Amino acid sequence: MKKRKPETTVSRRGFLKAFSMGGAGMLIPSAAIAAQERVPAPSDGELATLHDLSKCIGCGECVSACRESNAVKYPEPKKPFPEMLPSRRAKPEDWSEKRDVEDRLTPYNWLMLQTAEVTYRGEDHEIFIPRRCMHCQNPPCANTCPFGAASKQKNGITRFYDTFCMGGGKCRTVCPWHIPQRQSGVGLYLNLMPRLAGNGVMYKCDRCYQRLDKGELPACISICPEDVQTIGPRYEIVAQAKSLAREMNGFIYGLEENGGTNTIYVSPVPFELLNKAVDKGKGKPHFKRVGDAMADEGNLAAAALVAPIAGIAAGFLGLGAKLFKTDDKSQSGKEDSHES
Ligand code: SF4
Ligand code: SF4
Ligand code: SF4
Repeated sequence: MKKRKPETTVSRRGFLKAFSMGGAGMLIPSAAIAAQERVPAPSDGELATLHDLSKCIGCGECVSACRESNAVKYPEPKKPFPEMLPSRRAKPEDWSEKRDVEDRLTPYNWLMLQTAEVTYRGEDHEIFIPRRCMHCQNPPCANTCPFGAASKQKNGITRFYDTFCMGGGKCRTVCPWHIPQRQSGVGLYLNLMPRLAGNGVMYKCDRCYQRLDKGELPACISICPEDVQTIGPRYEIVAQAKSLAREMNGFIYGLEENGGTNTIYVSPVPFELLNKAVDKGKGKPHFKRVGDAMADEGNLAAAALVAPIAGIAAGFLGLGAKLFKTDDKSQSGKEDSHES
């Protein structure tokens, strides 16, 4: 595949500038989540990433780096899982014996590579595509989580808080790409009504918030030998994506999808072709055009209805987490700093 130098690079300096704009103060501790606005209004200053798909060689270094960097956050479930009642409830999901799976998203694999072999304008292309959470600007997962366990931060990162998550999976249902993945046998539901409510905890890319907190690049960006990804303020990333697309006579995905995301892909071939070519299904996101989920009246109404309940639930669960503190080190003892 033809290699090309990017016209401009949103550099480490650009990233650090954005970071200093948002700063560590934007990394909201979970204790404060219930009292904060869970989904700040979209802003051009949010951190966004650009994937130049013409540069990815499919080496998989990013996938390995993600797993290594985030392993401390992975679930350690208790077994056997509680039997759910009524039996028609969502079945438990267990990836703990399949932690090596890399060809789809799982609670232990937050980044996967898709491959597309396509012919476009008489030329054959093999395109490798890193896939993970898009970090939507107005994320339906955070808007509709009934327990306040999902939140978008002012710097554009959407995070799930394993202390609050009940694993019901509403976030996966409303996510246009069905990104979040459930692991049963962990989380608060075990201490509340394990047979009646919840099924575990949902997991996805959190954009390496622990590294951002220290002013470091996310692991997948830092490791990439081809500089496929750049990160910076959204307005710079959008400008760079448009410039790159013009330069390669290519195509953009993520700019308008779901009302706007903070993950922008630029490809030398149309995304409709990529969507047809990639392996899709459970844990394997599509590349279809996506309308704004939160613009839908029903969703807006549901989100508005849920918001106050979520705040109460989050407060209750925060209290509950303290009252019901257990020896489940997989959840309460992780170095995950969101409890601070
Ligand atoms: S590390 Fe870079 S080149 Fe390798 S698969 Fe990931 S994005 Fe592509
Ligand atoms: S891609 Fe899905 S999980 Fe990620 S922020 Fe958007 S709605 Fe949430
Ligand atoms: S930003 Fe971090 S958590 Fe997200 S895919 Fe990259 S390495 Fe994984």
